[in-house]
Amino acid sequence: MKESTAELQEAQRISHVGNWQLDVATNHVVWSDELYRMFGLNSKLPPPNYAEHFRLFTSESWERLSASMLRIQKTGDPYELELEMVRANGECRWMLARGEALRNTSGAITTLRGVAMDITERKSAEEQIKHLSDYDTLTQLPNRRLLMDRLKHATASSSRSKKNCALLFIDLDNFKTLNDILGHDIGDMLLKKVAERLSACIREGDTVARLGGDEFVIILENMSENVLEAANQVEMVGFKILTTLNHPYDLAGNHHISTPSIGITLFSGHMESMEALLKRADIAMYQAKKAGRNTLRFYDPEMQAAVIARAALEDDLRHALAKNQFKLYFQLQANHNRQITGAEVLLRWQCPKRGLVPPLDFIPLAEETGQILPIGQWVLETACAQLKLWEGNSLTRDLQLAVNVSARQFHQADYVEQVCKVLRSSAIKPDRLKLELTESLVLDSIEDTIIKMHALSEIGVHFSMDDFGIGYSSLSYLTQLPFDQLKIDQSFVRNISVKPSNEVIVQTIIGMAKSLRMDVIAEGVETEAQLAFLEQHGCIAYQGYLFSRPVPLEAFEQLLNQTHSYPKYSVA
Ligand code: C2E
Ligand code: MG
Ligand code: MG
Repeated sequence: MKESTAELQEAQRISHVGNWQLDVATNHVVWSDELYRMFGLNSKLPPPNYAEHFRLFTSESWERLSASMLRIQKTGDPYELELEMVRANGECRWMLARGEALRNTSGAITTLRGVAMDITERKSAEEQIKHLSDYDTLTQLPNRRLLMDRLKHATASSSRSKKNCALLFIDLDNFKTLNDILGHDIGDMLLKKVAERLSACIREGDTVARLGGDEFVIILENMSENVLEAANQVEMVGFKILTTLNHPYDLAGNHHISTPSIGITLFSGHMESMEALLKRADIAMYQAKKAGRNTLRFYDPEMQAAVIARAALEDDLRHALAKNQFKLYFQLQANHNRQITGAEVLLRWQCPKRGLVPPLDFIPLAEETGQILPIGQWVLETACAQLKLWEGNSLTRDLQLAVNVSARQFHQADYVEQVCKVLRSSAIKPDRLKLELTESLVLDSIEDTIIKMHALSEIGVHFSMDDFGIGYSSLSYLTQLPFDQLKIDQSFVRNISVKPSNEVIVQTIIGMAKSLRMDVIAEGVETEAQLAFLEQHGCIAYQGYLFSRPVPLEAFEQLLNQTHSYPKYSVA
């Protein structure tokens, strides 16, 4: 008997199989020597109890094992699991564990027993095979098979998140010539370096794959939900790739310049087949080749046109300030006596190519590129200089100018200091200046807003809440901010006497302003009926086409001068 136990132990040692047995009635457990050895534990000690088992496995494996153990105790169901064990020295290895229950004649479970086999070598061989089937051996990048998998995954997750994804098809220009002249080893060297550079251009979660030859594919996920915005984001990554791959390479002492051609297509959720997507990116890549190589092209011509138009706008805009192409228009603000109390200054871009460009066509881009900072500064300086000029004239000295402030401008660390500097150098009374902030700007960083508004308010600068009512107007933040005025958004004013619900909103805003002791002004007043409604409900300040469109300075000054001959207005 003893002999056969010894033989069994020896057989277990050679085959790396251990076994255990548990007497359910007494809870007594026996482990074979090989099982101790597999876990790197001392076989002189009693086997670990159930509670100590969790330390023997990775948490994921322990979860599966403990679920199976609970089941086998209850139902007697056998199990077979591949588990990752953690040995006493911290090393992780894989085991195949099988367990079964034995019952007595009346059917009650009396014994649990199991075997465990070390399968680490088999697992690592499997992993190697998987790696070989999923990765390109030269560059270690995902190959076509894994790319298709990832593409499928990206399509599914974008259909949930509604975000756009992009597929970039990258082909190296003149790669064949390099191979022919310097040989395949040098060609391979370039491919490896390109793979490294491409991997450095993308974020975690994106994929670079090698399709074969000198063709690489990138999947970018989680781009904007808005297609044009996503196109711009992808274009930026595309340019980064162009620049990165354009840097010279040292290929075993050979100085080499390589350029890529890139084709791009966007996709989201519900799209055609993976092959069709690749085809689209491939077609776009050929467009890039046709356009002279070392460039990128979008598959969608509309997108391509939009991206080109935006680049041209950005280019023109970059020089606009230096070339003095900005102008301020003035739109008068009046009170219920039809007296002019001031104006809102509205920016216009007098572009030689494009004509007079309205702000909404270029301000979003200027915000994105940061050009809004010098532009906004110019608006503020010009408005303050104008207030200074008006100071000397009794007709104009009490006018107030409202200046729109963009979020990026306002949230600069030294914004308060910038405004103070302009106030000092123009030497105007700060209360002649009214800064218009939007709700989204305010909520962007409410603590920052509170500090800056209070600082400026203390020196006398006024604040108006622009486009009020369309955002997340909440009383709680309004009470913390020193606004002097709420400006009812023109969309509500437009619908007065069209939508009864709008009239209620307008009345509510007026009431809200009153209880917060703020002034209220309506923008976009176009008809006498709107004016009458507003006045009747206690809104006594207005701006809109009924009074005047935004006009250049000369025209605005004429309006001021005309007040005696133009009975509608007088200067406050
Ligand atoms: P906003 O500040 O809400 O300006 C009011 C807009 O409504 C102006 O458009 C004005 O021309 C228009 N408007 C005024 N009265 C009426 C009316 O009775 N009917 C209609 N349909 N429209 C009216 P504009 O000049 O095109 O400006 C658009 C937006 O551009 C402004 O909206 C403001 O957010 C931004 N903006 C303008 N100038 C500047 C600036 O100097 N800096 C910044 N950051 N943004 C500016
Ligand atoms: Mg405004
Ligand atoms: Mg507005």
